[in-house]
Amino acid sequence: MADRTERADVVIVGCGPGGAVLGYLLARSGVDVALVERAATFEREYRGFGWNPGVIRLFDEMDVLDDVLDLAHETVTEGSFSLYGEEVTVLDFDLLETDYPYALLMEQPALLERLVDRAETYDGFSFHPATAVTGIVRDGSGGVEGVRARNREVDQEIRFEAPVAVGADGRYSTVRSSADIDPGLVESPIDLVWFKLPRGVVDASTQGRIDRDGILVYFGLGGGELQIGYLVRNGEWPAIRDAGFDAFRARVAAIDPAVAGAIGAHLDGFRDTTLLDVAPGLADAWTRDGLLLLGDAAHVASPIGAQGNPLAVEDAVVAHDLLVGALDESAGTLSRQALREFETRRRPSVERVISLQRRAADNFAFWLKYGAYVPPQVVRGSATAFGWAVPRSRLVQRLVESFALGDRTVSVARSHFTD
Ligand SMILES: Cc1cc2nc3c(=O)[nH]c(=O)nc-3n(C[C@H](O)[C@H](O)[C@H](O)COP(=O)(O)OP(=O)(O)OC[C@H]3O[C@@H](n4cnc5c(N)ncnc54)[C@H](O)[C@@H]3O)c2cc1C
Repeated sequence: MADRTERADVVIVGCGPGGAVLGYLLARSGVDVALVERAATFEREYRGFGWNPGVIRLFDEMDVLDDVLDLAHETVTEGSFSLYGEEVTVLDFDLLETDYPYALLMEQPALLERLVDRAETYDGFSFHPATAVTGIVRDGSGGVEGVRARNREVDQEIRFEAPVAVGADGRYSTVRSSADIDPGLVESPIDLVWFKLPRGVVDASTQGRIDRDGILVYFGLGGGELQIGYLVRNGEWPAIRDAGFDAFRARVAAIDPAVAGAIGAHLDGFRDTTLLDVAPGLADAWTRDGLLLLGDAAHVASPIGAQGNPLAVEDAVVAHDLLVGALDESAGTLSRQALREFETRRRPSVERVISLQRRAADNFAFWLKYGAYVPPQVVRGSATAFGWAVPRSRLVQRLVESFALGDRTVSVARSHFTD
């Protein structure tokens, strides 16, 4: 039995990029929204921090770009990496067909807070932090009529009722599992180990290094920190840890001695590293009567190509248009029929991105397994040839363009805005 009941037109579970953008767009369209978030603060460790030109266009269309550019960030105008010491540029943003020829690197907390602040300027919006959803509430015919939640700060059970509940609660979605929807996870051939170093202690002028001895990726975060990812083959990390921290540093030194030196000076052993689960997935259904899943709850992206944030934001933009229309046309619970258009619209481009990420992960895994067997003189020759071929390959350019610009058919339905 709930201590209290809240009613809204839409209850959104999860204030990541997908939930926060959808909450803001709906609130600005005159829809009553309850946005429910388990965490008490916006702090998030190791979440997506890459925002591609496609998302920047959408931020502009929703009038938040100036706010976003006010926050601490780094601007990227070129995608390049070092291949056996040879710098290879895969993406020159100036050559893209876009009015926004740059990507942003920025941590999520300040951005999410800014979106919620903007949503809170509209009367129909309510934000419920420190409130964990524990499951969906079904009506007599099996449809979803809301969610149950617990606010741990005031120790209260709350029931949120709405014609539609949106599960935007990420990779381990409670909403999805409570609706018995399979996440469709597939094993990743690679894992990522992350750690942070002070900005400026290593040369991060390229976004990564691929070497005989392994792969490192670098991301500036707009503040005083640099985030570094070390790729390992799936399941390999326990053995690396067992060999000890000095052996780990030696592995890193073989790729970039400066990073290894900084690890020694700035990390307190393995406790300052984090192994992240990067297995991708595609849930078999994204809608039910009264329920819509979006972002990682519907399709888990891996960090490759920084696609998770764009997919979640594009989902929110498409869901906004569809939900405003469907709420106008229907009185009670929104039927699966009315919501299915979301899935029809989004699934093809999401499937394409996840399949590209999986192919890239297979290639990285192959390199991690066999890179060290290739004789250095062969590697240096092929690195030069590769460095020449990559920027000229139509196929590679099409791939980076689609990663950079996202789904160009997605656009914010500004006609729904009340101001
Ligand atoms: C290591 C790593 C690096 C990444 N790097 C990038 C990158 O550079 N660029 C990029 O685009 N993508 C990246 N991604 C992916 C990106 O972080 C996600 O795809 C993106 O955050 C998904 O957004 P979302 O809104 O769907 O879900 P999330 O961001 O996961 O947000 C879900 C929210 O729901 C809340 N929640 C969960 N359960 C409940 C509950 N029961 N009740 C209430 N609230 C709940 C969570 O606290 C969270 O705030 C990365 C992912 C990882 C793991």
